[in-house]
Amino acid sequence: MQFDIVTIFPGFFAGIFEHGVVKRAIQAALLQVAVHDLRQFTHDRHRTVDDRPFGGGEGMVLKPEPLAEAVEHLQVAPRAERSGQGETVILLSAQGRRFSQNVARELAQARRVVLLCGRYEGVDERVSELVADQELSIGDYVLSGGELGAAVILDATMRLLPGVLGNDASSDYESFERGSGQSAGAGAGGLLDHPQYTRPAEFRGLAVPEVLSGGNHEQIRRWRREQALRKTLRNRPDLLQTAELSPEERSFLSALEVQSEDSV
Ligand code: SAH
Repeated sequence: MQFDIVTIFPGFFAGIFEHGVVKRAIQAALLQVAVHDLRQFTHDRHRTVDDRPFGGGEGMVLKPEPLAEAVEHLQVAPRAERSGQGETVILLSAQGRRFSQNVARELAQARRVVLLCGRYEGVDERVSELVADQELSIGDYVLSGGELGAAVILDATMRLLPGVLGNDASSDYESFERGSGQSAGAGAGGLLDHPQYTRPAEFRGLAVPEVLSGGNHEQIRRWRREQALRKTLRNRPDLLQTAELSPEERSFLSALEVQSEDSV
């Protein structure tokens, strides 16, 4: 899979893809990343990428021409043919559709993803209308640029590519995952992941839950599932509305809810 990142700060990405899973995926040729300097696609002496906003107001706006030229230079297919070619052009934007594990899974099907990073007060709207296929936001906050968003999208997407994580199934059991492919239904079912422990068995007076060293796999599975339910209820109750839960799990949750109401 190929990622192309277009930015006015190419140096921002120096080192960022040279660690851990991303680095190994690049070394194994499962992933290619190219960073392009937006100023390459300007034609004036000052290599101007921004200009004042029509209608007035603070700050500067990224001009449409360099971004459009950058995408043309990358020779991605015209917009109408892109999805058929497994290509997509994404504009990072606080106004975009919210990026999520589902969107990552969708993007992981593509062969090539171009990420356009905005700066300043944002990007001329015609980039979204004419050049990009979609706008993505990485969350409900305003960043100073799209670069961190591009890195987030690349990281979350590439770890879903077959062969990138040691074991092909290993992303199925993580937070937000529902399980895919052969293990459909075996994933976290849209819950948060269960807590993990490693040695030492006791740390500052806190022991690892006994069930985990008992070797009873069915008990361990049940305990993990309960913990995932507890944690999701505590930190992300919104996820429970769409999670895949058995009737027993629903009643376990109701009991927990009653308990927590009692303790208030
Ligand atoms: N005026 C804009 C924010 C501009 S921030 C607004 O209020 O919506 C400058 C750039 O940072 C944006 O063009 C975008 O590329 C990037 N950016 C800011 N917040 C982001 C977010 N939550 N997700 C993805 N990109 C973001």
